[in-house]
Amino acid sequence: MILATPGFPKAPLLPTGGSKGYRIAPAGANKGLGIFATRHIKAGELIIDERPLLVLPATTSAVDVVLFAMGVIGNSNSKFTEEEQCQIRVHAMDRAIRNLVERMSPEKRKAFMELSVCKEQAVTGEFYGRLTTNGILIDHKEFNDELLPGNLMTTYNAICDEISRINHSCSPNATFYWNTASFSVRIHAVRDIPVSDEITISYHATLQSFADRAKALTEYSIKPCMCGPACDPDPARIRAGDARRASIMRQIFMTKAVPLWHLRSLEHGTQKTILEDCVKRLKEMEEECLEDANGYGDLLRYVVEGYAYLGKREEVLKYAKKLERACRAFGESFDERYLSKDGMERIGIRKAGERESVKEKK
Ligand SMILES: [Zn+2]
Repeated sequence: MILATPGFPKAPLLPTGGSKGYRIAPAGANKGLGIFATRHIKAGELIIDERPLLVLPATTSAVDVVLFAMGVIGNSNSKFTEEEQCQIRVHAMDRAIRNLVERMSPEKRKAFMELSVCKEQAVTGEFYGRLTTNGILIDHKEFNDELLPGNLMTTYNAICDEISRINHSCSPNATFYWNTASFSVRIHAVRDIPVSDEITISYHATLQSFADRAKALTEYSIKPCMCGPACDPDPARIRAGDARRASIMRQIFMTKAVPLWHLRSLEHGTQKTILEDCVKRLKEMEEECLEDANGYGDLLRYVVEGYAYLGKREEVLKYAKKLERACRAFGESFDERYLSKDGMERIGIRKAGERESVKEKK
């Protein structure tokens, strides 16, 4: 399925502006290296498009199939204890990755071995540890195909030379997605990044509560997370942050429960209130620096289309500009017609007031 992707294998893209806008440098205590902006990067811009050193299943399932067939694991007759079985799986995975790394070119092997290992090497192994520590999770439909034994694997890890050095933040200024045609990971800015600021991505879903985020980060040996305001340990701040995230999530679910066609069937006052609530939550997402969450784009799209329906062209334009940047960052398509009066005319967006006057005539 990867080979059948239209355009495969395309070369990775150049960053927006044509040249590299970042450098790799020490990021401070316990953080190792990080990536820093060397120029002002605008929201939506492509920062890095990099083909990984390795792409591998995120779990040990590839070796599990073999070990299971050999009767070593997952069998009541196995002569090994559960703990031993676990160690065997990890060891087999480590060996498998070592074989791959040994086949890399000297420069790529050097880049791989320079990546850090967060976890105890005894637990995850020198090679497997680099995968679990530095892998970017990719969950793409092209990867789940009949080539894989028993369709066991759903998520993959991509290990990159540069991208794997990007540090975590619970309020990141960049996001990533996988592009199969160029077989690469793309990093885009989700908001403006001033020169010399560290470029960060989130290793978890940023709309989760403080406790859930902390739990997800233990896998990366980040404990406690001290990424900034989002992880301020003051209990009052934690409660306020959690409450905001919960209400943002409710609003995102609401847009799914009341899809646009349903919004249209509601009366004008209700439509307006729903859209105003969405706008409030969007503002909160920007205040909390949560523009990397998928729901940010969902809410923006809902607001743009909702205001388009109400004929509020100024609002359409205001939010369409943000939506365009979010779509670029997430690698999604965007209807450019929302960005101009002529374009809106072509979509058939009515001027504000037109609909009300039609009603009055009745
Ligand atoms: Zn954090």
